[in-house]
Amino acid sequence: MEGVAFLREPKVQELIKALLDGTIEQLEPAYSLEKGQHYPLVETTLELSTEEANELLERLVNTGILAEKITGTILNCPECKSTVIRPINACPRCGSSNFERGTLVQHFSCGNVGFEQYFKQGSDYICNKCGDQLSLKDLGSRWVVPGRWHHCRDCQLYFEIQRTQPLAICVLCGHNFDMREAGLSETKAYTLDPLVLEDIMSTTGVTEPLLRMLEEVNAKVDMPARIIGKSGMLHNFSFAFTRSREPENFVGVGDIIIRAAPLTGNEFFNHLSKFLDIEASQRFFIIAGAKLDDEARNLSTSYVTWKGPIVHVIEEQNLTQAIKQLIDAINVAWEDEPERKESELEVLEEMLKRMKGEHLEKY
Ligand SMILES: [Zn+2]
Ligand SMILES: [Zn+2]
Ligand SMILES: [Zn+2]
Repeated sequence: MEGVAFLREPKVQELIKALLDGTIEQLEPAYSLEKGQHYPLVETTLELSTEEANELLERLVNTGILAEKITGTILNCPECKSTVIRPINACPRCGSSNFERGTLVQHFSCGNVGFEQYFKQGSDYICNKCGDQLSLKDLGSRWVVPGRWHHCRDCQLYFEIQRTQPLAICVLCGHNFDMREAGLSETKAYTLDPLVLEDIMSTTGVTEPLLRMLEEVNAKVDMPARIIGKSGMLHNFSFAFTRSREPENFVGVGDIIIRAAPLTGNEFFNHLSKFLDIEASQRFFIIAGAKLDDEARNLSTSYVTWKGPIVHVIEEQNLTQAIKQLIDAINVAWEDEPERKESELEVLEEMLKRMKGEHLEKY
Protein backbone atom coordinates (compact mmCIF):
# COMPACT_ATOMS: atom_id res chain seq x y z
CA MET A 1 0.00 0.00 0.00
CA GLU A 2 1.47 3.34 -0.99
CA GLY A 3 0.68 6.57 0.80
CA VAL A 4 -2.48 8.44 0.01
CA ALA A 5 -0.82 11.82 -0.41
CA PHE A 6 -1.47 11.71 -4.14
CA LEU A 7 -5.19 11.80 -3.34
CA ARG A 8 -4.74 15.49 -2.72
CA GLU A 9 -3.64 16.08 -6.30
CA PRO A 10 -6.34 18.21 -7.96
CA LYS A 11 -6.87 15.77 -10.86
CA VAL A 12 -7.25 12.81 -8.56
CA GLN A 13 -9.72 14.75 -6.43
CA GLU A 14 -11.66 15.67 -9.53
CA LEU A 15 -11.99 12.02 -10.52
CA ILE A 16 -12.97 10.83 -7.06
CA LYS A 17 -15.47 13.67 -6.74
CA ALA A 18 -17.08 12.68 -10.03
CA LEU A 19 -17.32 9.09 -8.83
CA LEU A 20 -18.63 10.18 -5.43
CA ASP A 21 -21.41 12.37 -6.66
CA GLY A 22 -22.42 9.96 -9.40
CA THR A 23 -21.29 12.05 -12.39
CA ILE A 24 -19.27 8.98 -13.30
CA GLU A 25 -20.83 5.74 -12.16
CA GLN A 26 -18.27 3.24 -13.31
CA LEU A 27 -15.16 3.44 -15.44
CA GLU A 28 -15.63 1.20 -18.45
CA PRO A 29 -12.87 0.36 -20.89
CA ALA A 30 -12.83 1.16 -24.59
CA TYR A 31 -10.62 -0.30 -27.30
CA SER A 32 -8.63 1.25 -30.05
CA LEU A 33 -5.98 0.16 -32.49
CA GLU A 34 -3.16 2.13 -30.88
CA LYS A 35 -4.20 2.05 -27.24
CA GLY A 36 -5.81 -1.36 -26.80
CA GLN A 37 -7.87 -1.34 -23.60
CA HIS A 38 -8.07 2.20 -22.25
CA TYR A 39 -10.31 4.50 -20.23
CA PRO A 40 -11.33 7.48 -22.33
CA LEU A 41 -13.42 9.03 -19.54
CA VAL A 42 -10.38 9.30 -17.28
CA GLU A 43 -8.23 10.55 -20.14
CA THR A 44 -10.61 13.28 -21.24
CA THR A 45 -11.90 14.36 -17.83
CA LEU A 46 -8.43 14.68 -16.36
CA GLU A 47 -6.57 15.45 -19.61
CA LEU A 48 -4.20 12.53 -19.16
CA SER A 49 -2.44 10.33 -21.67
CA THR A 50 -3.47 6.67 -21.87
CA GLU A 51 -0.38 5.63 -19.89
CA GLU A 52 -0.97 8.27 -17.22
CA ALA A 53 -4.63 7.34 -16.91
CA ASN A 54 -3.89 3.62 -16.64
CA GLU A 55 -1.17 4.31 -14.10
CA LEU A 56 -3.53 6.47 -12.02
CA LEU A 57 -6.20 3.75 -12.04
CA GLU A 58 -3.61 1.23 -10.90
CA ARG A 59 -2.54 3.48 -8.02
CA LEU A 60 -6.14 3.99 -6.97
CA VAL A 61 -6.65 0.24 -6.93
CA ASN A 62 -3.42 -0.30 -4.98
CA THR A 63 -4.49 2.19 -2.33
CA GLY A 64 -7.85 0.49 -2.05
CA ILE A 65 -9.88 3.41 -3.32
CA LEU A 66 -11.07 1.89 -6.55
CA ALA A 67 -12.40 -1.62 -6.76
CA GLU A 68 -11.46 -3.53 -9.87
CA LYS A 69 -14.10 -5.72 -11.43
CA ILE A 70 -13.24 -8.21 -14.15
CA THR A 71 -16.05 -7.90 -16.65
CA GLY A 72 -14.90 -10.26 -19.38
CA THR A 73 -12.09 -11.78 -21.34
CA ILE A 74 -10.72 -10.74 -24.70
CA LEU A 75 -8.33 -12.64 -26.90
CA ASN A 76 -4.96 -11.18 -27.72
CA CYS A 77 -2.08 -11.85 -30.08
CA PRO A 78 0.33 -14.42 -28.56
CA GLU A 79 3.25 -12.50 -30.12
CA CYS A 80 2.63 -8.87 -29.24
CA LYS A 81 -0.38 -9.07 -26.84
CA SER A 82 -2.40 -6.68 -29.00
CA THR A 83 -6.15 -7.16 -28.65
CA VAL A 84 -6.72 -5.90 -32.17
CA ILE A 85 -6.99 -9.19 -33.99
CA ARG A 86 -9.06 -10.23 -36.96
CA PRO A 87 -10.45 -13.71 -37.55
CA ILE A 88 -9.37 -15.24 -40.84
CA ASN A 89 -9.98 -18.43 -42.78
CA ALA A 90 -7.28 -20.09 -44.79
CA CYS A 91 -6.88 -22.94 -47.21
CA PRO A 92 -6.04 -26.04 -45.17
CA ARG A 93 -3.52 -27.19 -47.80
CA CYS A 94 -1.52 -24.09 -48.69
CA GLY A 95 -2.57 -21.65 -45.93
CA SER A 96 -3.67 -19.01 -48.40
CA SER A 97 -6.54 -16.75 -47.49
CA ASN A 98 -7.19 -16.08 -51.16
CA PHE A 99 -10.31 -18.17 -51.63
CA GLU A 100 -13.83 -17.87 -52.95
CA ARG A 101 -17.07 -19.32 -51.66
CA GLY A 102 -19.88 -20.97 -53.61
CA THR A 103 -22.32 -23.85 -53.91
CA LEU A 104 -20.35 -26.91 -54.91
CA VAL A 105 -21.52 -29.34 -57.63
CA GLN A 106 -19.84 -32.68 -58.25
CA HIS A 107 -20.41 -34.87 -61.39
CA PHE A 108 -19.47 -38.50 -60.57
CA SER A 109 -19.15 -39.96 -64.10
CA CYS A 110 -16.47 -37.49 -65.24
CA GLY A 111 -15.17 -36.44 -61.82
CA ASN A 112 -15.83 -32.75 -62.49
CA VAL A 113 -16.10 -30.54 -59.40
CA GLY A 114 -16.95 -26.87 -59.46
CA PHE A 115 -19.21 -24.14 -58.33
CA GLU A 116 -22.84 -24.10 -59.41
CA GLN A 117 -22.45 -21.11 -61.75
CA TYR A 118 -20.22 -23.19 -64.08
CA PHE A 119 -22.90 -25.91 -64.35
CA LYS A 120 -26.02 -23.82 -64.62
CA GLN A 121 -27.40 -22.87 -68.00
CA GLY A 122 -30.78 -21.24 -67.53
CA SER A 123 -32.74 -23.66 -65.37
CA ASP A 124 -30.68 -26.68 -66.55
CA TYR A 125 -27.48 -28.14 -65.14
CA ILE A 126 -24.93 -29.00 -67.84
CA CYS A 127 -21.49 -30.39 -66.91
CA ASN A 128 -18.87 -27.93 -68.21
CA LYS A 129 -16.32 -30.75 -68.55
CA CYS A 130 -18.14 -33.60 -70.32
CA GLY A 131 -21.24 -31.75 -71.55
CA ASP A 132 -23.74 -34.16 -69.94
CA GLN A 133 -27.11 -32.79 -68.93
CA LEU A 134 -27.59 -33.43 -65.23
CA SER A 135 -31.25 -34.25 -64.56
CA LEU A 136 -32.98 -33.79 -61.24
CA LYS A 137 -33.95 -37.49 -61.10
CA ASP A 138 -30.19 -38.36 -61.11
CA LEU A 139 -29.39 -35.92 -58.31
CA GLY A 140 -27.85 -37.87 -55.49
CA SER A 141 -26.80 -40.82 -57.71
CA ARG A 142 -24.94 -39.36 -60.71
CA TRP A 143 -24.22 -35.93 -59.32
CA VAL A 144 -24.41 -34.22 -55.93
CA VAL A 145 -24.57 -30.71 -54.50
CA PRO A 146 -22.52 -30.91 -51.25
CA GLY A 147 -23.46 -27.31 -50.38
CA ARG A 148 -21.45 -24.21 -49.54
CA TRP A 149 -17.75 -24.86 -50.01
CA HIS A 150 -14.61 -22.84 -50.52
CA HIS A 151 -12.18 -22.86 -53.41
CA CYS A 152 -8.56 -21.85 -52.97
CA ARG A 153 -7.50 -19.62 -55.88
CA ASP A 154 -3.84 -20.41 -55.18
CA CYS A 155 -3.79 -24.24 -55.02
CA GLN A 156 -7.28 -24.93 -56.46
CA LEU A 157 -8.37 -27.03 -53.46
CA TYR A 158 -12.05 -27.19 -52.62
CA PHE A 159 -12.57 -27.24 -48.86
CA GLU A 160 -15.18 -26.89 -46.19
CA ILE A 161 -14.54 -24.04 -43.79
CA GLN A 162 -15.51 -26.18 -40.76
CA ARG A 163 -12.52 -28.39 -41.43
CA THR A 164 -10.10 -25.54 -41.11
CA GLN A 165 -8.62 -24.23 -37.88
CA PRO A 166 -10.14 -21.07 -36.44
CA LEU A 167 -7.39 -18.65 -37.36
CA ALA A 168 -6.68 -15.04 -36.64
CA ILE A 169 -4.27 -12.41 -37.81
CA CYS A 170 -2.90 -9.72 -35.54
CA VAL A 171 -3.62 -6.35 -37.10
CA LEU A 172 -0.64 -4.79 -35.34
CA CYS A 173 2.20 -7.27 -35.94
CA GLY A 174 0.72 -9.39 -38.70
CA HIS A 175 1.20 -12.64 -36.79
CA ASN A 176 -1.05 -15.50 -37.97
CA PHE A 177 -2.19 -17.85 -35.26
CA ASP A 178 -4.67 -20.51 -34.26
CA MET A 179 -7.38 -18.85 -32.14
CA ARG A 180 -7.01 -21.61 -29.57
CA GLU A 181 -3.46 -20.35 -28.93
CA ALA A 182 -4.56 -16.76 -28.42
CA GLY A 183 -3.67 -15.08 -25.14
CA LEU A 184 -6.35 -13.93 -22.73
CA SER A 185 -6.63 -10.38 -21.41
CA GLU A 186 -9.12 -9.42 -18.76
CA THR A 187 -11.42 -6.49 -19.32
CA LYS A 188 -11.76 -4.43 -16.19
CA ALA A 189 -14.19 -1.84 -14.97
CA TYR A 190 -13.48 0.36 -11.97
CA THR A 191 -15.81 1.59 -9.26
CA LEU A 192 -15.28 3.39 -5.99
CA ASP A 193 -14.91 0.93 -3.16
CA PRO A 194 -17.81 1.79 -0.84
CA LEU A 195 -15.85 0.61 2.20
CA VAL A 196 -13.22 3.27 1.92
CA LEU A 197 -15.48 6.11 0.88
CA GLU A 198 -15.98 7.52 4.32
CA ASP A 199 -12.26 7.77 4.89
CA ILE A 200 -11.59 9.62 1.70
CA MET A 201 -14.58 11.94 1.80
CA SER A 202 -12.71 14.49 3.87
CA THR A 203 -9.67 14.41 1.60
CA THR A 204 -11.74 14.97 -1.52
CA GLY A 205 -13.43 18.10 -0.27
CA VAL A 206 -16.99 16.84 -0.69
CA THR A 207 -17.62 17.42 3.00
CA GLU A 208 -15.81 20.76 2.90
CA PRO A 209 -19.04 22.85 2.97
CA LEU A 210 -20.28 20.92 6.01
CA LEU A 211 -17.02 21.52 7.88
CA ARG A 212 -17.01 25.19 6.93
CA MET A 213 -20.56 25.67 8.14
CA LEU A 214 -19.88 23.96 11.45
CA GLU A 215 -16.67 25.88 11.98
CA GLU A 216 -18.46 29.16 11.30
CA VAL A 217 -20.64 28.59 14.34
CA ASN A 218 -17.67 27.54 16.40
CA ALA A 219 -18.78 23.94 16.62
CA LYS A 220 -16.29 21.30 17.59
CA VAL A 221 -16.25 18.73 14.81
CA ASP A 222 -14.91 15.20 14.62
CA MET A 223 -14.90 13.58 11.22
CA PRO A 224 -14.90 10.63 11.45
CA ALA A 225 -15.94 10.37 15.09
CA ARG A 226 -15.57 7.64 17.72
CA ILE A 227 -17.99 7.78 20.59
CA ILE A 228 -18.37 5.47 23.58
CA GLY A 229 -22.01 4.49 23.95
CA LYS A 230 -24.14 4.02 27.02
CA SER A 231 -23.50 0.31 26.69
CA GLY A 232 -19.75 0.90 26.90
CA MET A 233 -19.26 -0.02 23.25
CA LEU A 234 -17.16 2.16 20.98
CA HIS A 235 -19.07 3.39 17.91
CA ASN A 236 -17.80 4.95 14.69
CA PHE A 237 -19.73 7.74 13.03
CA SER A 238 -18.97 9.70 9.90
CA PHE A 239 -19.14 12.90 11.91
CA ALA A 240 -20.10 14.31 15.27
CA PHE A 241 -20.17 17.85 16.57
CA THR A 242 -21.03 19.85 19.65
CA ARG A 243 -22.10 23.42 19.28
CA SER A 244 -20.22 26.27 20.90
CA ARG A 245 -17.78 23.82 22.45
CA GLU A 246 -20.12 23.33 25.32
CA PRO A 247 -20.76 19.62 25.66
CA GLU A 248 -24.38 20.02 26.70
CA ASN A 249 -25.21 22.32 23.85
CA PHE A 250 -26.66 20.55 20.80
CA VAL A 251 -24.83 17.36 20.00
CA GLY A 252 -25.25 16.07 16.48
CA VAL A 253 -23.97 12.82 15.05
CA GLY A 254 -24.36 11.34 11.62
CA ASP A 255 -23.44 8.56 9.28
CA ILE A 256 -22.79 9.24 5.64
CA ILE A 257 -23.10 6.18 3.43
CA ILE A 258 -22.44 6.06 -0.28
CA ARG A 259 -23.34 2.94 -2.15
CA ALA A 260 -25.02 1.56 -5.19
CA ALA A 261 -27.24 -1.12 -3.64
CA PRO A 262 -30.30 -0.31 -1.51
CA LEU A 263 -29.77 -0.36 2.25
CA THR A 264 -31.59 -3.26 3.92
CA GLY A 265 -33.60 -3.20 7.14
CA ASN A 266 -30.88 -5.13 8.97
CA GLU A 267 -28.18 -2.76 7.83
CA PHE A 268 -30.24 0.24 8.84
CA PHE A 269 -30.94 -1.37 12.20
CA ASN A 270 -27.20 -1.55 12.86
CA HIS A 271 -26.96 2.20 12.38
CA LEU A 272 -30.07 2.78 14.42
CA SER A 273 -28.93 0.80 17.44
CA LYS A 274 -25.60 2.62 17.33
CA PHE A 275 -27.42 5.96 17.21
CA LEU A 276 -29.61 4.95 20.12
CA ASP A 277 -26.67 3.91 22.26
CA ILE A 278 -25.21 7.39 22.37
CA GLU A 279 -26.33 10.68 23.79
CA ALA A 280 -27.17 13.06 20.99
CA SER A 281 -29.92 15.53 20.44
CA GLN A 282 -29.86 15.12 16.66
CA ARG A 283 -29.00 12.09 14.59
CA PHE A 284 -28.50 12.22 10.86
CA PHE A 285 -28.34 9.35 8.43
CA ILE A 286 -27.27 10.29 4.93
CA ILE A 287 -27.36 7.81 2.12
CA ALA A 288 -26.12 8.83 -1.32
CA GLY A 289 -26.32 6.79 -4.48
CA ALA A 290 -28.90 4.28 -3.31
CA LYS A 291 -32.04 4.45 -1.18
CA LEU A 292 -33.35 2.62 1.83
CA ASP A 293 -35.28 -0.51 0.99
CA ASP A 294 -38.88 -0.80 2.25
CA GLU A 295 -37.98 -2.52 5.48
CA ALA A 296 -35.30 0.04 6.27
CA ARG A 297 -37.65 2.89 5.45
CA ASN A 298 -40.29 1.43 7.76
CA LEU A 299 -37.72 1.30 10.52
CA SER A 300 -36.68 4.88 9.87
CA THR A 301 -40.23 6.20 10.09
CA SER A 302 -41.73 4.00 12.79
CA TYR A 303 -39.75 5.49 15.68
CA VAL A 304 -40.88 9.03 16.07
CA THR A 305 -40.88 11.38 19.05
CA TRP A 306 -43.07 14.46 19.51
CA LYS A 307 -40.62 16.45 17.43
CA GLY A 308 -40.12 14.04 14.54
CA PRO A 309 -38.19 10.93 13.63
CA ILE A 310 -35.37 9.93 15.94
CA VAL A 311 -33.01 9.69 13.01
CA HIS A 312 -33.20 12.29 10.31
CA VAL A 313 -32.74 10.40 7.02
CA ILE A 314 -31.51 12.06 3.85
CA GLU A 315 -31.70 10.00 0.68
CA GLU A 316 -29.98 11.63 -2.28
CA GLN A 317 -28.51 10.31 -5.50
CA ASN A 318 -25.77 12.89 -5.51
CA LEU A 319 -23.45 13.21 -2.50
CA THR A 320 -22.79 16.90 -2.97
CA GLN A 321 -26.56 17.50 -2.94
CA ALA A 322 -26.92 15.24 0.11
CA ILE A 323 -24.34 17.30 2.02
CA LYS A 324 -26.28 20.45 1.11
CA GLN A 325 -29.45 18.92 2.52
CA LEU A 326 -27.59 17.84 5.61
CA ILE A 327 -26.41 21.41 6.23
CA ASP A 328 -30.01 22.64 5.89
CA ALA A 329 -31.24 19.93 8.24
CA ILE A 330 -28.62 20.80 10.86
CA ASN A 331 -29.50 24.48 10.58
CA VAL A 332 -33.20 23.75 11.03
CA ALA A 333 -32.47 21.37 13.90
CA TRP A 334 -30.54 23.82 16.00
CA GLU A 335 -32.87 26.71 15.20
CA ASP A 336 -35.55 25.01 17.19
CA GLU A 337 -33.42 22.84 19.42
CA PRO A 338 -35.40 22.84 22.66
CA GLU A 339 -34.43 21.51 26.05
CA ARG A 340 -34.18 17.77 26.09
CA LYS A 341 -37.61 16.44 26.83
CA GLU A 342 -38.33 13.45 28.96
CA SER A 343 -40.59 12.12 26.22
CA GLU A 344 -37.73 11.58 23.83
CA LEU A 345 -35.71 9.65 26.33
CA GLU A 346 -38.70 7.51 27.09
CA VAL A 347 -39.33 6.77 23.44
CA LEU A 348 -35.68 5.97 22.95
CA GLU A 349 -35.53 3.58 25.80
CA GLU A 350 -38.77 1.93 24.84
CA MET A 351 -37.50 1.59 21.29
CA LEU A 352 -34.18 0.14 22.29
CA LYS A 353 -35.94 -2.50 24.36
CA ARG A 354 -38.30 -3.39 21.56
CA MET A 355 -35.60 -3.53 18.93
CA LYS A 356 -33.30 -5.65 21.04
CA GLY A 357 -36.17 -8.05 21.50
CA GLU A 358 -37.30 -7.99 17.90
CA HIS A 359 -33.89 -8.46 16.39
CA LEU A 360 -32.48 -10.82 18.93
CA GLU A 361 -32.93 -13.85 16.71
CA LYS A 362 -31.02 -12.19 13.91
CA TYR A 363 -27.88 -11.46 15.88
ZN1 LIG B 1 0.61 -9.23 -32.74
ZN1 LIG C 1 -19.10 -34.34 -66.43
ZN1 LIG D 1 -4.66 -23.62 -51.27
